[in-house]
Amino acid sequence: MNRPAGITVLGATGSIGVNTLDVVARHPDRFRVEALTANTSVDKLAEQCLRFRPRYAAMVDADAAQRLADRLRQDAPGVQVLHGTAGLVQVAGLAGVDYVMAAIVGAAGLLPTLEAARRGKRVLLANKEALVMSGALFMQAVREHAATLLPIDSEHNAVLQCLPDDYSPGRAPPGVRQVLLTASGGPFRTLPLDKLPNVTPEQACAHPNWVMGRKISVDSATMMNKGLELIEACWLFGLPLEQVRVVLHPQSIIHSLVEYTDGSMLAQLGNPDMRIPIAHALGWPGRIESGAASLDLLTVGALQFEAPESARYPCLALAADAMRTGGTAPAILNAANEVAVQAFLDRQIPFGAIPATIRYALEQCSVHAATSLELILEDDAAARAAARRCLAAERRAVTR
Ligand code: NAD
Ligand code: MG
Repeated sequence: MNRPAGITVLGATGSIGVNTLDVVARHPDRFRVEALTANTSVDKLAEQCLRFRPRYAAMVDADAAQRLADRLRQDAPGVQVLHGTAGLVQVAGLAGVDYVMAAIVGAAGLLPTLEAARRGKRVLLANKEALVMSGALFMQAVREHAATLLPIDSEHNAVLQCLPDDYSPGRAPPGVRQVLLTASGGPFRTLPLDKLPNVTPEQACAHPNWVMGRKISVDSATMMNKGLELIEACWLFGLPLEQVRVVLHPQSIIHSLVEYTDGSMLAQLGNPDMRIPIAHALGWPGRIESGAASLDLLTVGALQFEAPESARYPCLALAADAMRTGGTAPAILNAANEVAVQAFLDRQIPFGAIPATIRYALEQCSVHAATSLELILEDDAAARAAARRCLAAERRAVTR
């Protein structure tokens, strides 16, 4: 029998991280957890370390890492605790690691995810922000270092499952007319438009079909999530924007579709359970048990499809425009969105101010060719600064 594959889970304590470990735990003969990482959640990471006994645990925050090391000294002395971005990057590239689950949220995931690609790992990509920021560089690293790139985002994983077996990342598959990304429309799909600007973080995070981290939940409510996914799809499948379409599908049963030139349309269906795409990527090219329940089509009954309203989801057009502009524009879009979403979650700005903040940053920041990581990170920082200026003006307007 083959030795178990070593896996690093970046962002182990988050929604995708926990689902990944749930699938991994079902297959102790196939996978061995080599490293786990988290931002600040010491308790949760300690619990995971005791259960999975990785060789390494890494925390971004140095104080948190110290507390983790103190906790593990007695009960799991074999776990070596690292800290900082350097620690995350180190565990993404370890020699004993075959698979890296990239499940850190936001731009913070870029460096370790890129490291995994540069080390030729099987990269299970949940962290779409990394690809949005650095699409060309990231895809080049995947090709140059013969990494295997498997999307975890349910839509892109669905598309992958509907493509021919010989598809290679970033190259347009022959015979494809278009890719259709489905979107639930989030919790505000039918809310009267005049109520939208003042919805609360709790309402925005109450997704009708999926349980996810708070940032992606807000992104689903604004549909910036689908905007980021549009960009992600163009890079992953080597398609121009015109060949990627977004369709609202409130039931979240069809996770996406591929239409071929002969008019055939293939779809992937399943319950909205992230363990399905995770198990697909872990088992690929085979199939393994995920723990997800069978989809009962008779209970689902009817499937609906609609066009997204542009007035309700302005972030979708902002993302498409940024992709059309190219260069560092998607990195600017992503950075401004991260700042705006955090400010909304912290109750500093209303929901309605999110797209305005992103638009402001896109207008204020110069776009450059995204030819190096340094340039991308510079424009990411410039966009964060612009978004913060916009937020400060917004807060002054509210308190006046
Ligand atoms: P989450 O907020 O639940 O978890 C995020 C993880 O990243 C946690 O382990 C956290 O400790 C870590 N983290 C947060 N900030 C960090 C930082 N600055 N540096 C290092 N680590 C940090 O998020 P999630 O819902 O699991 O999403 C993770 C990624 O997967 C996101 O990019 C999201 O877009 C993508 N994704 C999630 C889902 C889903 O169903 N949750 C679906 C598709 C794609
Ligand atoms: Mg998705």
